[in-house]
Amino acid sequence: MRGSFPRILGVAFLLAAGATLVAQTKIELPKNNFTPQQDVEIGLQNAAEIRRQYPVIEDQAIAAYLTSLGDRLVDAAPADLKQPVYQYSFTPVNLKEINAFALPGGPMFVHRGMVDAAAGEGELAGVMAHELAHVLLRHGTANATKAQNPWLQLGQIAGAIGGAIVGGTAGAVISDGSQFGIGTLLLRYSRDFERQADLLGAQIMARAGYDPRDLAHVFETIASESKGGSPEWLSSHPNPGNRTAYITKEAESLQIAPHPDTREFAAAKSAFARLDPAMTMAELAKRTEASAAGAAVAVGTPGRPVPTPSPRQRTVNAGVFQVSVPDNWQAVQSSGTLRVVPENGYGDLNGQMVFTHGVEFGVARSSSRNLQEATTTWLNAVARDNPDMRLSGSQQTTRLSGRTTLVTSLTNPSPLGGAERVVTYTTFLADGSLFYYLTVAPEADQGTYASTFTRIARSIRLTDVR
Ligand SMILES: [Zn+2]
Repeated sequence: MRGSFPRILGVAFLLAAGATLVAQTKIELPKNNFTPQQDVEIGLQNAAEIRRQYPVIEDQAIAAYLTSLGDRLVDAAPADLKQPVYQYSFTPVNLKEINAFALPGGPMFVHRGMVDAAAGEGELAGVMAHELAHVLLRHGTANATKAQNPWLQLGQIAGAIGGAIVGGTAGAVISDGSQFGIGTLLLRYSRDFERQADLLGAQIMARAGYDPRDLAHVFETIASESKGGSPEWLSSHPNPGNRTAYITKEAESLQIAPHPDTREFAAAKSAFARLDPAMTMAELAKRTEASAAGAAVAVGTPGRPVPTPSPRQRTVNAGVFQVSVPDNWQAVQSSGTLRVVPENGYGDLNGQMVFTHGVEFGVARSSSRNLQEATTTWLNAVARDNPDMRLSGSQQTTRLSGRTTLVTSLTNPSPLGGAERVVTYTTFLADGSLFYYLTVAPEADQGTYASTFTRIARSIRLTDVR
């Protein structure tokens, strides 16, 4: 019997030493040029836009449940990260895809699909804790800081991302009055930020009484269900790799607080089941697009004389790019595109919206990393609305904002009679989507417009994160 006592002491000592060796990971706040108050302003404005566009669930019991779960997580969050100005909210939306997202300063949205996919309250709490971590670490405005656009002022970010979230998932649908491309900037996190959100999320979970391993598990569920073609979550929260391993490791260093009463989870699930069927993101995009088209703003009346482009320039800032345009042209934003057009260049002609003079910018999703291929796919989509459009001459390579760009000349019947020339410039953005610049004017007006279009092309500055 002798000798065993010291050995037991030794084991106890080793355990204690081990516990300090695997202390919870300390997470550093990334560099951020914005103030917490600006986070709040950006978040509130965009949340209002999202509530206007998204199918918000009005059910009182569901809203109350989500809020109490959210509040429990906020209570468990580290005090030094909880800015007093933050305004947390937890809004359920009747959308099918497994997703959740949070805006700077506190507003969080949880898709019904997320709740449906969660095997238990711990998994839902895990995703919400991960989102809360993005808010506390101010990852949205840290992304904007990284972009280092001197012109990227608060006003450009505010009101910008409502539509762009849809854009990231179901084609570039943009809400009226917003600057497009910023959604990508604020809500598409780097793998570093994902890892930070996982670790802080795990710490918050443990303090709130949930097992952080539920977070690892729900990510596995998302990954397996996303193979079916709805990678909503993964497009903005890329997998940093080894997720399960490092979350499990972090969990081992954490002391899990007493488990909360989770009986309300089942009640909430049945309340969800009684709702109208959930909408898909594609259906939402269609609805948003339809309402944007209904509100399309004309610039004069096509068919009337179009004034000559002014030699004076003004700068338009549009999220992922800035450009100089003639100062007598107007910017018109509709679903996913920004057009800049002269008077009488865009509007209704015999019951159809036509675009006869001017330029258009947009971003299209691309599955190919080959510029030629990506351009062809995009042009085929453009040709669906313009079945008589034809290639004219061979494609050329040039540079836009220093990036390799494909120039394609096309000819198309002009709505005004005769032929029009359409020229497209396509290049990749850092996230792999295709940026395009398109010019249109009647063949007869080429003498007036060709040099203006070239000057505009040269002024384009792409400002996405590279
Ligand atoms: Zn994330």
